[in-house]
Amino acid sequence: MELLTTRLEQDLKKLREISRALTPEEITSSRVQQLIANLVQFAQNYSSPDGHYKCAGLSAVQVGFPLRIYVVRDRKTEVFTPYINPGLTPLGDATNSHVESCLSIPNVSGIVERYTRVRLSYLDPTGQRQMLKEVVGFTARVLQHEQDHLDGILFTDRMSKPK
Ligand SMILES: [Zn+2]
Repeated sequence: MELLTTRLEQDLKKLREISRALTPEEITSSRVQQLIANLVQFAQNYSSPDGHYKCAGLSAVQVGFPLRIYVVRDRKTEVFTPYINPGLTPLGDATNSHVESCLSIPNVSGIVERYTRVRLSYLDPTGQRQMLKEVVGFTARVLQHEQDHLDGILFTDRMSKPK
């Protein structure tokens, strides 16, 4: 499994693709189950070349599979949870601004404004509909970052311009 980065023109093109949703049959297929396991493992084992950053979230498109799947680390347990065909809804208008970076965009970080509270509806790896009723703070930010990947949006598109 290889990470796509914006350094390469052909990778950038793939990172800009809109990922497609999975059918229930696909989700339970051994091919997709293996992909999910590989995503979790890749994310779990990742550390940046300088050793400073661990992975907080990873979308399938970042390793070359334009499918609506991402994995996000739980801050307490450190375990990565897979979210399939996720739908994200902001709760309220409150936003906050914080520094972000991305495995696929080496050596870049910047301030991005995100919703403070979100709700996530998704399918788990067995194909069951699940809901995170209210997610706040850092994890809410990671979910919004990964959700953007599914639509070909990179955090640098949302980065506030230096004043
Ligand atoms: Zn990213």
